[in-house]
Amino acid sequence: MTDVIFATASGVGGAIAVVRLSGAGLDPIVQSLSGALSPPRRASVRRFHDGAGRLIDQGLLIRFPGPASVTGEDYAELHTHGGRAVVAALTARLIALGARPAEPGEFSRRAFGNGKLDLLQAEGIADLIAAETEAQRVLALDQAGGAMSAAIVAWRDRLVGLMARQAALIDFADEDLPPEVEAAMLAEIDVLRHDIGAAIGAGVAAERLREGIDIVVLGAPNAGKSTLVNALAGEDVAIVSATPGTTRDAIGVRLDLGGVPVRLVDTAGLRETVDAIEAEGVRRAEAHARRADFLIVCAAAPDFVVPAAPAGVPALLVATKADLAAACPAGALAVSAHTGAGVSALVAVLSDHVAALVARGAGPALPRPRQIACLRDMATALERARAVAEPELRAADFQAAADALARLVGVIGVEDVLDQVFSSFCIGK
Ligand code: GDP
Repeated sequence: MTDVIFATASGVGGAIAVVRLSGAGLDPIVQSLSGALSPPRRASVRRFHDGAGRLIDQGLLIRFPGPASVTGEDYAELHTHGGRAVVAALTARLIALGARPAEPGEFSRRAFGNGKLDLLQAEGIADLIAAETEAQRVLALDQAGGAMSAAIVAWRDRLVGLMARQAALIDFADEDLPPEVEAAMLAEIDVLRHDIGAAIGAGVAAERLREGIDIVVLGAPNAGKSTLVNALAGEDVAIVSATPGTTRDAIGVRLDLGGVPVRLVDTAGLRETVDAIEAEGVRRAEAHARRADFLIVCAAAPDFVVPAAPAGVPALLVATKADLAAACPAGALAVSAHTGAGVSALVAVLSDHVAALVARGAGPALPRPRQIACLRDMATALERARAVAEPELRAADFQAAADALARLVGVIGVEDVLDQVFSSFCIGK
């Protein structure tokens, strides 16, 4: 028996408030509140009363008796007017009747406990609620809707097949088995290992999409970096100044480039300096640049001096203040933030680069470090299984791969993960 929890699931201050309840023993509470139960799954108009029989509000009651409900338990929703006083009176009455306010993520945790969703789906729902851009929404929906889980169940079936055949090999160890049996098994391990490797690659791209792409703007002081960031952002967010060295810290602007969330970071100009604060700004600029997903390297007219950029980070050379020069260096994208020339071309080039950074194949793409770590464990176990010759050792490696997969969907060893995942939900989810 679980206690009855409730929470306002709608945002505060809207026209309508949705209060959801879940738990065995819900019916008497709802009956006391609304005078009469409603038929299952039908929205019914009810009058909700306080303990003294005074009307709190009139609204809708919808009941979903368990287990065919979103949490798997008896579940109900009350739709009332959204005023704070209405919700406050309703809350007081529900507590008086024995219900208790839900913890963050408690509804989803109960759904998980009752097998209504697996851990991947739960994480997908959290990401769907947090999604800010279209590409993030699509990624999260794949996971919340169970598409990822289905792909992973298919892997599990293949792994179980391998384990069964391995067990048979152990049983027949004394007999001479045709070498094709072993060869076929190794080939199958390779294919599975390859598919998981592809998913790891896709997961890294998906992680970038979930977290957002960091684009860092580098260049000498006065190269026009702040002005360029402002032109890209379409709003005045960075300090634009004619005095060199005024942008002393990295400033982030959030952009939506073709559905992908981007943080555009304007940095202090890179130059030798004796000013301690400015030197710190330069140090931070260099640190940001090393961690960036992509660099915009600014070389300004008329000299077009190209600043040093860290190796290994993809970069685009932009010739800034192009209005001041007749020609720009070959290979650079000419932009004038003042006239606007080249700005939309720059946006198009950046959008393409960003899309490439988050591109993933059709297979599963899991964006959380926890998930990617499980996939890596699985891949390592399969590589070990491939390398060993003794049937018993290989069986143990298969088991390790299966355990990693079970942790991925939340079947084993996940209590600490569960706490972490569900506590990051909002209340009412
Ligand atoms: P930062 O130090 O690299 O961030 O450079 P700022 O964006 O503060 O710009 C330095 C100076 O260059 C300012 O006086 C800007 O008005 C000027 N500037 C920036 N972009 C352009 C441009 O496209 N054309 C011209 N002519 N001047 C620019």
